[in-house]
Amino acid sequence: MVSENGAELNIQNAEHGAPAVTVIGAGLAGSEAAYQLARRGIHVDLYEMRPENTTPAHKTDKFAELVCSNSLRGDDLSNAVGLLKEELRRLGSVIMECAESTRVPAGGAHAVDRELFSEAVTARVTAEPNITVHRRELTEIPGGRVIIATGPLTSDKLTASIGRLLTELEPSVQFLNFYDAAAPILTGASIDMQSAYRKSRYDKSGDDYINCPMTKDEYLAFWRELCAAEQAEVHGFDDGGVFEGCMPVEVMARRGEDALRYGPLKPVGLRDPRTGQTPYAVVQLRQDNREGTLFNIVGFQTHLKFGEQKRVFGMIPALCGAEFVRYGVMHRNTFINSPVLLDEYYRLRKLPRVAFAGQVTGVEGYVESTASGYLAASALAAELLGRPMPRVTRETAIGALARYVSGGAVSDFQPMNINFGIIEPLGERIRNKKEKNTAIAERSLAALESCGL
Ligand SMILES: Cc1cc2nc3c(=O)[nH]c(=O)nc-3n(C[C@H](O)[C@H](O)[C@H](O)COP(=O)(O)OP(=O)(O)OC[C@H]3O[C@@H](n4cnc5c(N)ncnc54)[C@H](O)[C@@H]3O)c2cc1C
Repeated sequence: MVSENGAELNIQNAEHGAPAVTVIGAGLAGSEAAYQLARRGIHVDLYEMRPENTTPAHKTDKFAELVCSNSLRGDDLSNAVGLLKEELRRLGSVIMECAESTRVPAGGAHAVDRELFSEAVTARVTAEPNITVHRRELTEIPGGRVIIATGPLTSDKLTASIGRLLTELEPSVQFLNFYDAAAPILTGASIDMQSAYRKSRYDKSGDDYINCPMTKDEYLAFWRELCAAEQAEVHGFDDGGVFEGCMPVEVMARRGEDALRYGPLKPVGLRDPRTGQTPYAVVQLRQDNREGTLFNIVGFQTHLKFGEQKRVFGMIPALCGAEFVRYGVMHRNTFINSPVLLDEYYRLRKLPRVAFAGQVTGVEGYVESTASGYLAASALAAELLGRPMPRVTRETAIGALARYVSGGAVSDFQPMNINFGIIEPLGERIRNKKEKNTAIAERSLAALESCGL
């Protein structure tokens, strides 16, 4: 429960004499938020519960650990996440700087060496003199100014505490949940390269991916076994409760014989250079570390039992002897009903000293979580330093995301990736989609200059 008596306790940090904020969670959002506050002269007490307590998805004690894919998705400005990343780069995001310095080849996408990336973020954040890191779980919301950035797997005790606060503020508002899954990681040495070939889709940028082709017979046999394979127990999960953007491969398979061939196993643009033919289906592997010794299976987030993952994914010819260093897992993903609760600075409307950032607000994805951490911190810093509040408009991608999340009651609030549909449309009509998106992106980057973030 929130102690209102303690509400002003950390506004001024006694030791540092500067305004102070508590940030809970050193994930993507919390690391960005703490860093941005610190760089603006505000003292931050940053609480991270790992390694003492951990979540079912995190494996290390590092900040900003990427729990599944190592990709921050597309880089092109005609792609909404490419625009959001460019905005963050221009704003001086520490997450984007670390992502830049730890890139691995991934065609048109921005992928990173996950270990080096989170090591870099940990080093940058802990080196900030204005940040004091506390390696422990917070089970109650502390007094003073707070940013809660504890992610989709917020610890149970803090979830209960947040729940009590929200019920007090908005009795009818509940937590919301969906289910999210991670894909397995394999050793490169165990992939049968006699059966596989290197190539990027449409040869977009070299041969960054390993492609595992399948004939029609191989695909159908694989598809049948995948549909029937045994799933791990996940309490309360059914196929309807998944986030469409991160759907388990077996759930997608059950939607029909060709669902995978129009999804992650899509063969178009992946003609096999050895035969000159386009295979019936292709499984793609993306490099997972800088050394190129580990690969993840693209789009293969799953909650099959581990033995079943080995058996069924082993039916892909190039993966018949694959060595799994991490199996796919599935977890509950919790977020608050932000449209009812938050303002455009990610603060509780009825208790603005408490802000939220990251996936717990219902933004979806690594880059989106980072963006919300940036905006929440930048706005809070402006407020504490008595500066004009930033203009949060739908013209920028970072603003559009905040506007979407805080946009007032919706009947079925679902987590949201950035997309051009939530960004302010152009005044003019441009038929070509790529040209239209690029024009929106140019306008967004111009608007960013004067929004005060
Ligand atoms: C299984 C799974 C797979 C996913 N796959 C992808 C993917 O492939 N691509 C993608 O873009 N997104 C994926 N996501 C979403 C991903 O979680 C977010 O994109 C991103 O990690 C969210 O960043 P965040 O900072 O909000 O939370 P996190 O990065 O999870 O950070 C939250 C931090 O808070 C800490 N914490 C929690 N409770 C407490 C407490 N009480 N006290 C102190 N510290 C606490 C945690 O230890 C953690 O370090 C996945 C999520 C899950 C659960």
